[in-house]
Amino acid sequence: MRILVVEDEPALCAQLVEAISAAGHTVESAGDGVSGHYLGEAEDFDAVVLDLGLPRLDGLSVLRRWRGAGRNMPVLILTARSAWHEKVAGIDAGADDYLAKPFHMEELLARLRALLRRVGEHASAEWRCGPIVLDTRQARVQVDGRPLQLTSHEFKLLSLLMQRKGEVLSRTELSEHIYAYDSDRDSNTIEVFVGRLRRKLPPGSIETVRGMGYRLVEAGAGA
Ligand code: CA
Repeated sequence: MRILVVEDEPALCAQLVEAISAAGHTVESAGDGVSGHYLGEAEDFDAVVLDLGLPRLDGLSVLRRWRGAGRNMPVLILTARSAWHEKVAGIDAGADDYLAKPFHMEELLARLRALLRRVGEHASAEWRCGPIVLDTRQARVQVDGRPLQLTSHEFKLLSLLMQRKGEVLSRTELSEHIYAYDSDRDSNTIEVFVGRLRRKLPPGSIETVRGMGYRLVEAGAGA
């Protein structure tokens, strides 16, 4: 999934990015309200972690502007400890959940998982495609009940393909999800990652759609 983190404290922001990436997501971050607001309006995210105390534009205003513009991605706000009025104001402004600082990263990840589970059709923490099962909580993959070792790039690639199983995804789309930070992302390397992933999955799982991209199908379903 694609997550946006808006947090002005550099150390905390880096910790959030690291922990959420390690959970298998693609993370983008912003260190102030103006750039955070811009990213959340210009790009699609599956969820947002939004600090309320931000320079240039405070978090509540960011949230109100998103909601006012019809942006309805789930938002988890970070509030100052014991500032109950902030929580109330945040919920009123359209936050889906809140967490008071300081918090344990494990709790943040659990809240984020709950938010992502509530979204869309992925009510389960496990995604399936034929014999392939991806556990979004543990960031683990099994094929026919046997664990599959994947690199983080391969995992991100498979997550996106499974999330949008049956849909054709372009090389550009796949590389945007894999290299959130790389300025020199190269869509040719996607072919290399797809090739490696393909060799680890049951034959026929990843179809190449000439001139368009790739699609995940149930192996042996003849699709
Ligand atoms: Ca802050």
